[in-house]
Amino acid sequence: MLKFDIIKTEGLARVGVIHTPHGDIKTPAFVGAATRATVKALTMQEMRGLGSQAILANTYHLILRPGTELIKSAGGLANFCSWHGPTFTDSGGFQIFSLPDVSISEHGVKFKSHIDGASLEMTPESSMQAQWAIGADIHMAFDHLAKSDSYDDMKEAMLRTHAWLDRCVTEHERIRESLIGKGDRNTFSKGISERGSARVSALAPCRRARATRPEEKVFGQDPCRLEQYLYAIVQGGTFNDLRAESAEYCKSNDPDGFGIGGVFTADGMDEMLKTVNSILPDDKPRHLLGMGQEPVDLFIGAEYGCDTFDCVGPTRMARNGSLYTKDGRINIKNAQYTHDFTPLEDDCDCECCKNYTKAYLHHLFKTNEITAKVLASIHNEHFIVKTVDNIRESLLNDTFQDYKTAFLSRYYKSL
Ligand SMILES: [Zn+2]
Repeated sequence: MLKFDIIKTEGLARVGVIHTPHGDIKTPAFVGAATRATVKALTMQEMRGLGSQAILANTYHLILRPGTELIKSAGGLANFCSWHGPTFTDSGGFQIFSLPDVSISEHGVKFKSHIDGASLEMTPESSMQAQWAIGADIHMAFDHLAKSDSYDDMKEAMLRTHAWLDRCVTEHERIRESLIGKGDRNTFSKGISERGSARVSALAPCRRARATRPEEKVFGQDPCRLEQYLYAIVQGGTFNDLRAESAEYCKSNDPDGFGIGGVFTADGMDEMLKTVNSILPDDKPRHLLGMGQEPVDLFIGAEYGCDTFDCVGPTRMARNGSLYTKDGRINIKNAQYTHDFTPLEDDCDCECCKNYTKAYLHHLFKTNEITAKVLASIHNEHFIVKTVDNIRESLLNDTFQDYKTAFLSRYYKSL
């Protein structure tokens, strides 16, 4: 099983460490959204520099381009994109269900590629096969996103998600057993025993991969390949009885961890997370899928027992010139910043704030320079990563409630 140490708790909130084959994640933590094996506008070196601990790539997009076999031959996702740290993949379900002309059956989902219109199908089995080929440390089970927020649609989607979870678990185990059966059982056993004793930096390459010669770093010899883990996805929308039923079902399947899906707003999230995380076992990690654009999402998520988060929002907003400050988001394209020769944040230690002024960023955005998106993305991603890191520190120091009140009252004071 995926090793997860809890260092401290406060109510439902936890401070912990997830020990993945490619390194540790100190939780709570914000995971960078590397949808197509890249965080838009940022290099992996910049992601490390701004403090990111882990990335999450998207199976749907990687199946279409460059194809999972190519990533497999490159030595897996971490090698392919030169991240060399902890990696997640989501199942592709969310993106597929967001496409037009989706046909759903108990077997799976038929859809058309958004690139060339080709007819494709994804099933729980094919999602697991794709995720094993991509080779992230943590996979998400293939889930069904409801077509509306009505109770009946939510229940139908949840029940199908549960049926598909059973198939995901079976396929996940089948693939692992088949790889072990290819003569790698000793490597696998060694990996399990090492994992409990070795201390690994979040930024270190897979520690057994480091011991191999460069020419051996192909997927067929990737020593981490047998250590891939599966999270079940809790669904149920805004209905707490469905959320409770889904949490119970996912728990009964005994996965390595849990994703909490289908959450789009902080409204009611506290009650929903209270319901779900009171049912899920304490000793396994929980990932809140797709949340973190608004700082309040992260405070509520951590307070009510979530360990990791991911969201494309911070970098997406950055590319549009919408930048975080402790006093709320600003639009750097506004005329008021034309002659503002101060950094976005005086005390921010990101590369953007340490070196550039708002006037310079304003100029880059007004002239549509690529560097505008780079610098803005560095700052926004750093701001959110650092906010979650500070939540962790405040939980360790018994100052979480003070930090939360001070941060949120200042950030949202204009609302
Ligand atoms: Zn900054």
